[in-house]
Amino acid sequence: MSDQMTHAEPSGHHEPQRRCISCRGNGAKYGLLRFALVGGMLCFDLRKKLPGRGYYVCAQRSCLENAFQKGFKRAAKSSPKEIAENADAFIREILIPGLRKRYTECLLAGFQSHMLLLGADSVEQAAQADTLAAYVIATDASESTSTKYRTNASRKNLPCLGLYDRSFYGRLFGKSDKVVLGWLSCHLFEEFSSLEASIRRLESV
Ligand SMILES: [Zn+2]
Repeated sequence: MSDQMTHAEPSGHHEPQRRCISCRGNGAKYGLLRFALVGGMLCFDLRKKLPGRGYYVCAQRSCLENAFQKGFKRAAKSSPKEIAENADAFIREILIPGLRKRYTECLLAGFQSHMLLLGADSVEQAAQADTLAAYVIATDASESTSTKYRTNASRKNLPCLGLYDRSFYGRLFGKSDKVVLGWLSCHLFEEFSSLEASIRRLESV
């Protein structure tokens, strides 16, 4: 078995690229944070839909610090004072709650569009059929349950994600507790997985 034989890479096809104003690195649009200049005022644009000129920054502390210190003033000729006192306050008070909210929206939209599967039976079925893109495992899954799904995932070379416990997922979908969810390959999943990476990175200090 070779790694090259795994199914087609779902990411990367024609995803619009944007450049970070701090490190000048290019990245997929959904992986970067957007700030918009609306009526001369700099705003954080969680859903990347605000009108006005947009400025992109990597979802990492160093790029945000640089943007708050000088990047915004240079690029947008606007002070980030309206958004937050400094990068640290912005990350803690606005960014992380915002990213977690958007993460939950992706779960709901995934469920509504049938790209997110709920419960062990449908997830395992998709895994068997090679249509699964990732497992989402409740943070309070038992050791043995978690090990079982992680083993299945690594056999299929799939990621294991998840930031919430089983009752959170149950409540979110108006169902009983869910220990495991599964994503099929789609843009929502790409955004979800990039949001989880950003949240984990920004919360670990
Ligand atoms: Zn950057």
